[in-house]
Formats: sequence, structure tokens, C-alpha cells
Amino acid sequence: MKITHAEVFVGGPGKNYVTLKIMTDEGVYGLGDATLNNRETLPAQYLTDYLIPCLIGKDPMNSEDIWQYFYRGAYFRRGPISMAAIGAIDMALWDIKGKVAGLPAYQLFGGKSRDGAMVYAHATGSDLEALLDTIEHYQSQGYKAVRVQCGIPGMPAGGYGISGKNDDSKHFITQYGTLPDEEIWDSEKYLRYMPHVFEKIRDRFGPELKVLHDVHHRLTPREAAAFGREVEKYNLFWLEDPTPAEDQMALKLIREHTTIPIAIGEVFNSLWDCKDMIEQELIDFIRVSVTYAGGITHAKRIVELAAIHHVRTGFHGAPSHSPISMAAQGHLNAWAPNFGIQEYLVLGTPECDALFPSEHRCEDGQFLISDAPGLGVDFDENEAQRYSYERRYHPVVRLEDGTMWNY
Ligand SMILES: [Mg+2]
Repeated sequence: MKITHAEVFVGGPGKNYVTLKIMTDEGVYGLGDATLNNRETLPAQYLTDYLIPCLIGKDPMNSEDIWQYFYRGAYFRRGPISMAAIGAIDMALWDIKGKVAGLPAYQLFGGKSRDGAMVYAHATGSDLEALLDTIEHYQSQGYKAVRVQCGIPGMPAGGYGISGKNDDSKHFITQYGTLPDEEIWDSEKYLRYMPHVFEKIRDRFGPELKVLHDVHHRLTPREAAAFGREVEKYNLFWLEDPTPAEDQMALKLIREHTTIPIAIGEVFNSLWDCKDMIEQELIDFIRVSVTYAGGITHAKRIVELAAIHHVRTGFHGAPSHSPISMAAQGHLNAWAPNFGIQEYLVLGTPECDALFPSEHRCEDGQFLISDAPGLGVDFDENEAQRYSYERRYHPVVRLEDGTMWNY
């Protein structure tokens, strides 16, 4: 079997999904996702200009050798652009492999370790009452776990990933404009108010609800250590990105002062970014994604290292991941012996379903993987003609005095 050609499509309903389609001489094709959120044209260009020409004529079944060819073969390795591009190729090759075998991808990893994979929803409130109502909404839909983000009194609306609309999925999809929004942040106000939010959540929903919270890299190590210790009594499922991810040794200070579970890694793109904090057991959940971390081949390697250090998975699942990479993660979640939880924002708009038809579904707070061969997601090229690239940005963050801060 030989790869004959490959194409990249950029666009989608409310998102610039970067979709790779690899075709073979036997008519079987594979799909991959290279969506690097708000920098989408770059992996698309990297694929078109540099990687796809090298793919032509290769045997798609040799996914390991092709991964090594693009990783080791590049003098300048790693980084989100090249790893997203390699990741898309890798996903597409596993898709082809599964279709040739007539098996869902998880069967090629070692089969299922569970029937459904627990997901968490994003509950967001511009104030506490709105947040509590949103949590109740998700609980009534069967979710056992929610990520909770709350507007902070005295901080301007719009800060801290809060749209003021109390609906994170819409916020992520529609808010961003052609230049970055600016948000204002104040760690002191946040640190004073947030323990009260957790207290009210436990008062209303009791001990069973799994509560996750994302600090979004906003605190210093000392602040995060003190915060973690203060909110330990509310029994959070995890505290995410307490400090900027590039300084991994900051996690040592946090670990010395609190037993709160730490989740980190959504901006990492290789095993080498994760290795020290996994081996030193400074985290409890690894947040990489198959897109930014070089596809199934490399993400699986990270998951296996994590497994021997008591670190569970918590793959990134923001709406920037197309249904293709969410499916790839769904197959890894079905297999992983150290599965923890999966971030999941409802992508299932009629437009998205039309572009990416699949039988995967989310029910009662669980992602249920279909038994379709390969990754189990298709791509409708006629639908894709409706969409084109539209530049978007994440917001940027400043302190009240104008100093730039971490988004
Ligand atoms: Mg996050």
C-alpha cells in the first residue's frame, strides 16, 4: 500500500479546523487534525510545504517509521507547529491502519479498559449564582464532573475566561475577534473570593460532584501553594495550571505545601516537556492532547510513562480540537490503564456533525466510542466548501496597572 496524495483543509463552523486527508493507492484514506488554536494556518503550511511531499510513495502502515522520519529528520524539533503537523499525519495513519484491519483504533492499542470514559463539562458563571445554576444544568444532563470558573467581584467582566454569557462553549467559539481582546486580572481579589465559591458549591451539591478548577497560569508558585492548601478541604478533583507551565520546578513548592491534585500540560507538545514532572511525581494528571503532542504514537508514549508514576490522563478537549482528534483521544481513553477524565465541550452542532459525521456520542457524562474501523470519524468535503479561514486570537491579560500577565 502506498500514499498517493494528501490535502489540508482549513475552516469550519465557528472554528478554523485544520483537517488532513491522506489518500492511498488502495482507496483507503485517513483523517487527522492539526488545529493549532488561533495559529491555524501555520501547521497547515508546514504540512503542505514540507511534510506532505515526503509522504508520497510511503507505506502508510509504517506509522512508527514515518513518525520518526518527521521528528528525528527535522533538525529543529518539537514546538506546537511541527508537532501538530506530525500529529495530524500520525492520526491519519492510525485511521488507515484501523480501516485496513477492520478494527476500531483502540483494538490496536490493546482493547478496551472501560466502556465509557468520564468527561467534564465547563460550568462558567459571570457571578456565583449564575455559576451554581450552570452546574445544576450540567448535573441534570448527567455530568458527574464539572470545571467551575466564576466571575470575581471587583474584576471587570470578561476576565478569567468568563464571557458574561454563562456558556463557555459559545464563549470560546464566538467571542474572539480579529485582534486580541484585553482582560484585566487581579490575583489578590481572586485568591480572596475563590475559596468562598468552592464552599458554596459543596453546600449546594454535596461531596459527590467532581469539581475541577483552572487557574489558567495566573498565580506565582507561593500563591498557588497557599491557595491549594486553603482549598484542600473542598476536595477538588484537580487544580489545573496553577502556575505558568514552562517553569515545572515551581510545582515542587506547591507539592511541598499541599496535597491538592495538580493537572498540567495542555500547552506541552512532547514527552520531553512532561518527563521531569512525571518522573518526579509533581503532578497527578497529564493534560497533553493528541494534536499538540505529535499524534497517537507520541501521546501514547507519554501516557505509558505517566502510568508508572501514578499520573492519570486528563486530555485537553477545548473546542479547538476537531471531532477527529477528540475521537483519537476517545480511543486512547478507552484503552489507557491510567485514564483519569476527558475535557469535553459539546461540539455537536448540526453544522459540525455534517462536516464530521461519526457515531461517537456523549451520554450521562461519558464519552462512548463507536466500533467503526479506524478513528470512526469522516469528513464531508462538500460541506467543507462552505467554510474558509478567519483570523482569531485568544484574549491577552493585563494587571490593573497595565502590566502584561499570563493568559
Ligand atoms: Mg486549561
